[in-house]
Amino acid sequence: MVEYEVVIIGGGLVGAALARSLAQHNIHSLVLDNQTETALYASELDNRGIALSYSSVQILNSLNLWQKILNAHAIRTVHISEQGAFGFTKLTAAELNLDVLGYVVSAAELGKALVQNLSSELITVMRPIHITAVHYQPSGCWQLEFSGNKIRAKILVAADGANSLLRNYAAVAVSTKDYQQTAIVCNIDTSQATDIAYERFTAQGVLALLPFGKQQLKCVWTVPNTILAHMQQLEDSEYLAAIQTAFGYRSGKLLKVSARKMFPIHHVALQQLYVPGLVFIGNATNTLHPAAAQGLNLGLRDAQELTTILRHAKNNAIAFNNVQLLQRYSAARQLDHSNTQRFTNSIVEIFASEFTFINQARKFALFAAQFISPIKHRILKQGVGAWQ
Ligand SMILES: Cc1cc2nc3c(=O)[nH]c(=O)nc-3n(C[C@H](O)[C@H](O)[C@H](O)COP(=O)(O)OP(=O)(O)OC[C@H]3O[C@@H](n4cnc5c(N)ncnc54)[C@H](O)[C@@H]3O)c2cc1C
Repeated sequence: MVEYEVVIIGGGLVGAALARSLAQHNIHSLVLDNQTETALYASELDNRGIALSYSSVQILNSLNLWQKILNAHAIRTVHISEQGAFGFTKLTAAELNLDVLGYVVSAAELGKALVQNLSSELITVMRPIHITAVHYQPSGCWQLEFSGNKIRAKILVAADGANSLLRNYAAVAVSTKDYQQTAIVCNIDTSQATDIAYERFTAQGVLALLPFGKQQLKCVWTVPNTILAHMQQLEDSEYLAAIQTAFGYRSGKLLKVSARKMFPIHHVALQQLYVPGLVFIGNATNTLHPAAAQGLNLGLRDAQELTTILRHAKNNAIAFNNVQLLQRYSAARQLDHSNTQRFTNSIVEIFASEFTFINQARKFALFAAQFISPIKHRILKQGVGAWQ
């Protein structure tokens, strides 16, 4: 039986970031994924724009990957408004003494930079594989069987996304919620270039328009499933007109729309970040509503913290499955997880409701965020990933 220092289940964005980060500190990992790398992040399958916070850009920079992303577009202002209402909130990089709040990149390009060419002397990748058994052993290690192989992990990391298989094997408590909403994602050509990320609460749902270079926007419109069929049936010209009506002309005239892709929206939250010998990171721990653009940013911070902890263990000859070590990881990440979850849920809940009382609260929230500086500061800090 082969034993690996670290076994990462899921070589998606977060799992791959962890493997690369560990390799920088001479920690060997085995990455197992049930999909081929070309099946993931093909631009024709995933046209999403991902808003990366300032802290995520720093993490990608430390992995020497940031310079590989050729299409990264700065966000200097976030503008939040509501269709048919007067109030709006404007958050700027200057308010945090930063040059930019973050960048918009394409999920496909980011995926290629992180996931492709992952194999190295310190990273073994096996994909596609099919896991058939996972056991916790009295030695405190996990044993796995997949595609005819049997291996043991000094520490097992579940980075296997929202429907984590490892979560089932470890029988951890999980709360899930189906928002009964779908994110409709497309690219839009517009008559005017911008560096403002717009978020607008419309009659149909949250509409996000992210700047993507010369006169392009990455668009995510999260709509209730009750109107999904109608939105899907609209011709391109009708869909473009619906966005223009809901959004207005802040970013010029909308000229052309690409094919639309659908992403069903769920919320998943684990009540614990580890069990003995096994740590959960990324979407396997916390799958968030995309309205606040926080999911990947949170996952990259998980990967970074886990690297810090395992590097400390290696330098001090501490076993990777040492319980105090995992407790330390959990304690270091818990606050960020609960703040990010609360921040995302508050945006979703306030803006999802049509009750008059909440409607008033929503208008007040936009007004308050614009004029009350501690609230504004908190939103900004969470947005750039600097909340502690
Ligand atoms: C419409 C939309 C817009 C978004 N926008 C943003 C944004 O602007 N900013 C942001 O920060 N986040 C955003 N997110 C969230 C972000 O996409 C996720 O948080 C991020 O992709 C999670 O990465 P992950 O690696 O944890 O999970 P995943 O990307 O789901 O990767 C999981 C990996 O595990 C593998 N796997 C699954 N099951 C198994 C198994 N049984 N065995 C082996 N391997 C397995 C999969 O093949 C995959 O490679 C958005 C999400 C959506 C839906």
